[in-house]
Amino acid sequence: TTGSPDLVVVGSGFFGLTVAERAATQLDKRVLVIDRRDHIGGNAYSEPEPETGIEIHRYGAHLFHTSNKRVWEYVNQFTEFTKYQHRVFSIYDGQTYSLPINLSTICQYFGKSFSPAEARALVAEQAGEIDTAAAANLEEKAISLIGRPLYEAFIRAYTKKQWQTDPTELPAEVIARLPVRYTFDNRYFNDDFEGLPVNGYTAWLTKMAEHPNIEVRLSTDFFDVRDELPADVPTVFTGPIDKYFDYQAGELGWRTLDFEQEVLPIGDFQGTSVMNYADEDVPYTRVHEFRHFHPERAYPTDKTVVVREYSRFAESGDEPYYPINTPEDRAKLETYRDLAKKEAAEKRVLFGGRLGTYKYLDMHMAIGSALSMFDNRIRPFFDQGASLDGRLDD
Ligand code: FAD
Ligand code: UDP
Repeated sequence: TTGSPDLVVVGSGFFGLTVAERAATQLDKRVLVIDRRDHIGGNAYSEPEPETGIEIHRYGAHLFHTSNKRVWEYVNQFTEFTKYQHRVFSIYDGQTYSLPINLSTICQYFGKSFSPAEARALVAEQAGEIDTAAAANLEEKAISLIGRPLYEAFIRAYTKKQWQTDPTELPAEVIARLPVRYTFDNRYFNDDFEGLPVNGYTAWLTKMAEHPNIEVRLSTDFFDVRDELPADVPTVFTGPIDKYFDYQAGELGWRTLDFEQEVLPIGDFQGTSVMNYADEDVPYTRVHEFRHFHPERAYPTDKTVVVREYSRFAESGDEPYYPINTPEDRAKLETYRDLAKKEAAEKRVLFGGRLGTYKYLDMHMAIGSALSMFDNRIRPFFDQGASLDGRLDD
């Protein structure tokens, strides 16, 4: 596209691309999407590993699942989905168990057959040690829900590795609930719709940006070009909200991940896509074997790609992945939300997405939230001359 854009979108992740796609196709607006990275798609970006052709998710494995019918219909405009159903296993003390904790996990762990009622009674008895309402930290809360033995095996060390903090020092709210299933169902997600994009995430994301009204400018940092953008053009910002405001209320805390990728000269390393490691002396939290996300594809049978995942606190320069959300973080966020409201009223800037709202959002949530922003803010702005300000879009 040439000429001045009607809308600027900062960030080409699912949030930004959904806004751009709607404005281009539903309102016939010219949209400029800019991204500091050299590729489209934000953290959902994927690419073939060059030696094997196996599709790798560069920023961590992404599983699509939703119960939101509107989102499901929307995403099916851009890609078909495979029948993939996610399942996770966990290695603890030399044995492999099925997750989330279910009847199979319980029978195997306690070394005997339990009926659903027997397993329920056993867990209730073990969990009775601590009253959930009185739980003062993550460890107590978890024990009050599933009992000490299962907690010690599958939760304690894994959680400690993921947060680099002892569970007795993590707030109880970090786990709202710990599901225990008293059936042999080990599907990881409960949602109505689930699958992986048939031609990969990047093909899906590229299709969203395909409309001629959309121009995507990569390797371009908003903070380097903002002065060159036309004044007054409405902007949707999906980068970090604290950075936008020059960290004036302080930096928000994030966890990041390190990925160690390896091509192995064997056809199958672990027989499944994700294996958690519950033992404390294994430094990584889990191993992804990407070929198993697409059993329908003709991948080489003599090579495989595995990625070990390590978790730690993000420092400046690291990719921010999961909001830590301490009470201090929440206080800072309040300040940033007030600033964002003013920015919408005075500068026509809206904040959205994972980094723009400091909220962990699954893909379907980012897309759903972008569709709401489009309906409630962007369309009224263009169609009825409404102002963009008001509350932050949740
Ligand atoms: P992002 O994808 O992060 O996109 C933001 C974009 O803004 C980035 O491309 C960034 O480069 C760009 N940007 C930032 N600052 C600037 C700037 N100053 N100038 C220009 N561009 C800028 N969801 C699921 O549904 N299932 C999963 O299994 C799943 N697994 C995940 C695993 C990991 C490790 C992580 C981190 C996330 C996972 N997610 C998963 C969540 C998913 O990644 C998000 O829902 C999705 O990425 C949200 O999209 P977004 O557009 O808000 O943010
Ligand atoms: N968890 C755990 N053991 C496991 C898997 C999960 O203790 O094998 C706990 C852990 O506290 C973690 C939380 O459950 O922080 C959520 O884990 P999950 O792997 O679902 O989150 P993801 O990293 O995939 O978003």
